[in-house]
Amino acid sequence: MTNVRVAPGGTLGILGGGQLGRMLSVAAARLGLRCHIYCPDADSPAFQVADAFTQAPYDDEAALQAFAAGVDAVTYEFENIPARTAALLSAAKPVVPDVRALETTADRLTEKTFVRSLGIGTAEFRPVDSYADLADAVGALGRPSVLKTRRFGYDGKGQIIIRHGGDLTEALARMGGQPAILEAFIDFSAEISVVAVRSDTGTVATYDTVQNEHRDHILDVSSVPAQVSASVDERAKAIASQIIAALDYVGVLAVEMFVTADNEVLVNEIAPRVHNSGHWTLDACLVSQFENHVRAVCGWPLGSTARHSDAEMTNLIGDDVDAWMHLAAEPNAGVHLYGKKEVRRGRKMGHVTRISPRSR
Ligand code: AMP
Repeated sequence: MTNVRVAPGGTLGILGGGQLGRMLSVAAARLGLRCHIYCPDADSPAFQVADAFTQAPYDDEAALQAFAAGVDAVTYEFENIPARTAALLSAAKPVVPDVRALETTADRLTEKTFVRSLGIGTAEFRPVDSYADLADAVGALGRPSVLKTRRFGYDGKGQIIIRHGGDLTEALARMGGQPAILEAFIDFSAEISVVAVRSDTGTVATYDTVQNEHRDHILDVSSVPAQVSASVDERAKAIASQIIAALDYVGVLAVEMFVTADNEVLVNEIAPRVHNSGHWTLDACLVSQFENHVRAVCGWPLGSTARHSDAEMTNLIGDDVDAWMHLAAEPNAGVHLYGKKEVRRGRKMGHVTRISPRSR
């Protein structure tokens, strides 16, 4: 039996008002649901497409209580939900996915330890809290290796490659005194990801494996099908399915992985939310990652994750978005603009997905 939390006409609360919250809100609308967005930032992209919004800090208890009173359930578009915010909201309404999953994935050390406990490979790693730790870890893992902050790293922020001759003191200083982790450098042949969804009743589905290319540490292009062997494809999906079930997670998450030269699949990180490498599902699947997240958290049956087309999604970063008129004129392109007022270097302004008939 499903436990329906939000029925048609009901209201889903979303913490976070960026493009992910915006696309969740649009997907919810297709199902006859209303969304109430909570975000501290003025002019949040999701405010424009929601039934209601609250612009207030995440520690504003009165605003959080009023928000909770007006919704049937709460979900979120980002993983750094303050513990106090989560506790206040979950005392009033169901918060889905359960924020306990965030404790595992928020810290690269606990995340990688968890992944390994499932028998899934990762880069070799060592915790680094001091210069002595770093020197030992570099001795064990060799150069190049990658030093990363354990928490709050994204889009390549808070990480540095330690190359031959690179200075360890300087690398450690770049961590700003935060706990860090050293990872062996993976000479990958491809970066891939799998977006998985799990329903309230434990049904798991995955979208097709995606191949990702980054530019300046930011996702540039995601394409499906990924140019990997059938066994790598199957292994990647099995890994994502195993992880989402082991976390007892309800909703969408993405698992980013490396494929090595000898076709080993190693987990890089888990993103406990809808993910940029799943945006193509809006145009190449009957039910997108956003709708499936809404379905799962609202207690609905999952929708199809089948892909009807090949797809290549390109992010529109900074002034890439100036080409909107040309993109809009392309016959096989789905154009998605996020309604952000200010164009800034490195800012995700939109994306375009080009589709073509399914090749395999
Ligand atoms: P992350 O912040 O962990 O997602 O890393 C951002 C990007 O840095 C990845 O998508 C890779 O391109 C690269 N990277 C991260 N970790 C490693 C590693 N251990 N070996 C090689 N490249 C890495």
